[in-house]
Amino acid sequence: MVKPKDITMPENGTSKEELTSIMSRFHEGDANWEQGKTWTYVYNAGSDFTNFIKQAHNRFFMESGLSPMAFPSLKRFEAEVVSMAVDMLRGNKRCFGNMTTGGTESILMATKTYRDWARDKKPAINEPEMIVPESAHPAFEKAAHYFDMNIIRTPLDGNFKADVKAVERAITENTVMIVGSAIDYPTGIVDPIEDLAALAKEHGIGFHTDSCLGGFMLPFVRKLHEEGEDVPRVPDFDFKVPGVTSISADLHKYGYAPKGTSLILYKNQKWWKYQFFAHVEWSGGAYASPTMTGTRSGALMAAAWTIMKFLGWKGYMTLARNTMHAARELQRGIEEIPELSIRGDPVMSVFGCVSNDEKINPYILADQLGKKGWTIDCVDAPQSMHFIVCDHHYQKQIVPLFLEELKETIDDLKDNPVDVADGAAAVYGMISSLPDRDTAKDTVIKFMMDQYKT
Ligand SMILES: *Cc1c(COP(=O)(O)O)cnc(C)c1O
Repeated sequence: MVKPKDITMPENGTSKEELTSIMSRFHEGDANWEQGKTWTYVYNAGSDFTNFIKQAHNRFFMESGLSPMAFPSLKRFEAEVVSMAVDMLRGNKRCFGNMTTGGTESILMATKTYRDWARDKKPAINEPEMIVPESAHPAFEKAAHYFDMNIIRTPLDGNFKADVKAVERAITENTVMIVGSAIDYPTGIVDPIEDLAALAKEHGIGFHTDSCLGGFMLPFVRKLHEEGEDVPRVPDFDFKVPGVTSISADLHKYGYAPKGTSLILYKNQKWWKYQFFAHVEWSGGAYASPTMTGTRSGALMAAAWTIMKFLGWKGYMTLARNTMHAARELQRGIEEIPELSIRGDPVMSVFGCVSNDEKINPYILADQLGKKGWTIDCVDAPQSMHFIVCDHHYQKQIVPLFLEELKETIDDLKDNPVDVADGAAAVYGMISSLPDRDTAKDTVIKFMMDQYKT
């Protein structure tokens, strides 16, 4: 292990050849997504596709998204990406929004928008609150923390969906926004968005659909279902639902765009305007920006635009069809294994997998599969392995191999039980054994700091 301070700025530069070879060596330790053995993090649609997008990205490598005046091309990319996404999510010409660096930033922006809207329109509120179902992403906790809001977490119903009655009971005079997921990360379900958004509408407050994970998949799964394919029905979650005032949708997940691309969209500019920041008394002149970051990447805007234009409805439909094919194959295979079952009723290609056998702990199972080269994330409540299936799992036809190794590993574990010893299982086990939340938080932060130190 090398401590960062042992690495100093080199006196002389390093040759291109040497750097290239060093990078290849670094890469060897990374999750093996190229063979389709990574069930998380990477959304890939094949190297032909990716190489073309890289060209678009590199074409605008130097341009800066800070000023819409200096680089009208970037303004145009962003506006067209927003407009295409609004169409995909069944909005109308009154909808607006921006590109951001990721789902977290999109969620931060929505939260700031509702807080600032309340400051303007409901000045009596001193301690603004958001109501967020248990299953919604920690980015809402981060947003509440950064923007000094209270977050009320509400329980789920028996099918891992937000309990509408619990949300209704949680509404107070201080509530400024309600959240629902389409889909949620742990289970892959769509919350009852119509009922939740109706509550928000009735109380005259904001409703955010977190479609970071589902935004670039559900519209196409809906169409597949309408065309009679064997995929689940997609409940309404988008701008078609009265009361939905904002939606986050990640381009860098099922949009198949490079990391650092997401969208935050609003029903109309009455909401959108609260997202902006302006400062007019700076010696550098008036300054204004739409999102958290200052300078933004022109390359990412160009890449996102190119992908949406290149694929269109038909291209995304093909990717969704392939993805659902692989996801259904994996789900059916898992359901045939007596020790395992699927968690809840996932709508698309993201799902959790629980154990029915006390000898098989999902975290240990994931660790053991990790030793065979697979990368599998785990989720909690209940403990589950977690799968995100995408186009390249279909292209690589990896599901049969995975199911085979999954069954082998289960048999091995039954014959030779493994203690919670290392890997993710150890970390999760350690965290859950800690006496209270503050200690757990401190421990996790220390763990993360150590990760970045070495
Ligand atoms: C990924 C994700 C987010 C956060 O997105 P980042 O791009 O990681 O910042 C939010 N909500 C859901 C449901 C997600 O899957």
